[in-house]
Amino acid sequence: MPHVPVHIRAIFFDAVGTLLFPEPSAPAVYAAVALRYGLRLAPGDVQNRFITAYRVEEAADVATQLATSEARERERWHRIVTQTLTGVSDPEACYRDLFDHFAKPAAWRVAPDAAEVLAALQSRGLVLGMGSNYDARLWPVLAGFPELAALTDRVVISAAVGVRKPGTGFFQTVTRIANCEPNEVLFVGDDLDNDYVGATTAGMHAILLDPRGDHTHIPHRIMKLSELLS
Ligand SMILES: [Mg+2]
Repeated sequence: MPHVPVHIRAIFFDAVGTLLFPEPSAPAVYAAVALRYGLRLAPGDVQNRFITAYRVEEAADVATQLATSEARERERWHRIVTQTLTGVSDPEACYRDLFDHFAKPAAWRVAPDAAEVLAALQSRGLVLGMGSNYDARLWPVLAGFPELAALTDRVVISAAVGVRKPGTGFFQTVTRIANCEPNEVLFVGDDLDNDYVGATTAGMHAILLDPRGDHTHIPHRIMKLSELLS
């Protein structure tokens, strides 16, 4: 079976980890900010602290049925930064520096095959869009990447929807923006739960972007975006 079944009319893509990647890496950026505020941390230590803090926030989201907002996202990142960088001289300044950093296109790189893949899919008449658990900072980031212009008419951001992925309410908004039935929409993303399970639970077709081959038991899986064209 081709990766994009013939009945599919719209394809929506996750943002971070699928089309956009922090460059330098998030642990390197956190470590650099920590150092500016008097705390020397190895990137590996940053990563461990970050993952622990991130998971606490994810558990908090489950307790509120994945409700979100711009305020909730700022709260999320404030807690993650202050927990990850415990020991710095000015936690509030670190939070502001990091929040602002990731709103800039210069903090990101785009997937090398994104422009070619999106152009090819668009030429097949497919409706294209983006569905992200990021927040309003996605807009200034996208403005810096003409490679992703094919998606910018249909960008679904959880902080605006009010529900995070993998919540069904998020994917119902994607379906409405796509102006399709759920089973006519393909969702492509790198997160097994948030993207693949969330989309299929909402009745969509899903493909997991799995560049390291971590999830070989998943039937619909690609290792790079260009496989969508085969
Ligand atoms: Mg992702």
